Amino acid sequence: MTSPIWHPFTQHGLGEPIPLVSHAEGAALYTADGRRIIDAISSWWVTTHGHGHPRIMAAIAEQAGRLDQIIFAGWTHEPAETLARALVAMMPPPLAHVFFSDSGSTSVEVALKMALGFWTQTTGPRHRILVMEHSYHGDTIGAMSVGARGVFNQAYAPLLFDVGTIPFPAPGHEQATLDALEQQCRATPAAFIVEPLVLGAGGMLIYSPALLAEMRAICRRHDVLFVADEVMTAWGRTGTLLACEQAGIVPDILCLSKGLTGGALPLAVTLATPTIFDAHVSTDRARMFFHSSSYTANPIACAAANANLAIWRDEPVLDRIADLGRRQQERLDRISAHPAVRDARRLGTIAAFEIAGGGEIAGEGEIEWVGDTYLSAIAPRLMAFCRDRAVLLRPLGNTVYVMPPYCIDDADLHTIYHAIEEFLG
Ligand SMILES: *Cc1c(COP(=O)(O)O)cnc(C)c1O
Repeated sequence: MTSPIWHPFTQHGLGEPIPLVSHAEGAALYTADGRRIIDAISSWWVTTHGHGHPRIMAAIAEQAGRLDQIIFAGWTHEPAETLARALVAMMPPPLAHVFFSDSGSTSVEVALKMALGFWTQTTGPRHRILVMEHSYHGDTIGAMSVGARGVFNQAYAPLLFDVGTIPFPAPGHEQATLDALEQQCRATPAAFIVEPLVLGAGGMLIYSPALLAEMRAICRRHDVLFVADEVMTAWGRTGTLLACEQAGIVPDILCLSKGLTGGALPLAVTLATPTIFDAHVSTDRARMFFHSSSYTANPIACAAANANLAIWRDEPVLDRIADLGRRQQERLDRISAHPAVRDARRLGTIAAFEIAGGGEIAGEGEIEWVGDTYLSAIAPRLMAFCRDRAVLLRPLGNTVYVMPPYCIDDADLHTIYHAIEEFLG
């Protein structure tokens, strides 16, 4: 019997198998038919410490027995209060205000609304948003608007709002990026939104902390709000708690989600400075921040996040990350000797490279970005090849990346790279 489920980013017409996962532990998924699959992409970048971390699972169970869900407009609860205080203590000042939502996309929508709200409440409306080429910020209409245009959102293009795009700072072209940002900042935009150090869905494109610092300085100089979308890069992914840390910068608005609960439950936060929060504070109800979703700050999700933060406080998470980074680099050095491997690169726990001669574009219409190769024939072939070898990998077009949970051991890491090498061979 076929399933009634309509899966995300899945072409059901191709009839590809959709494995049924029954349980997971650490870096492994177990299918209902008894296979052990290595989760080489942290279940789409969310699982940080590993699946089923005992402290997070215990916190969820404990909270579920106490308080499941309440309205968060005008009401509060202990897990959210604890989490907000702990986040403010952990994140750099002056990010002192925490707005909850449920996903990376909604944390970005909230960030955009905060930025526009700030200008409306202060010096006067500003609506233009600046973005970086090849960016990804989510799949809701606003998040798509500030992300790269391509085959993913072609059907909705007329609904997406206009943005100012600065080029990706490809090696040797960094100055063009800074010049474009400087130029576009002169037209008094509301904000610049960027993924710090790594553009994830755009193809694991890496740029330097120095450049991030310069972009932040330009925005400050021109009084343009700087929004850091750390939905993928935070929680140690890039080697530090936040990617922004490596550039020594603090954004005006910070989006966090994926690893916030260690990857166990959906939760997101948008952190803002007092300047932005205060602009919305008044005795006039018409000036409040008009945003909510039904499950804002769900207590069980907050309890999972509190357990994640406790793990960060009590366990040597950064040491594990550094160790995984070293082990990833060793594998990457080996595989980059292969003639089909191009642009091998790594930041923290993320290792990526391109497969040259990736085959013909299999889709129709104009594809402009990763874009260029997202529908390449290689990705589904490599994905199926790895699936047969008990490895969950999901290349972005010709870009292959390995981004495992921090707990992965040498044997599993070896299996991942061995499968890729076999494919290349
Ligand atoms: C995944 C991602 C998002 C969207 O998060 P969802 O939880 O999938 O809505 C936004 N920004 C970045 C940088 C991401 O990697």
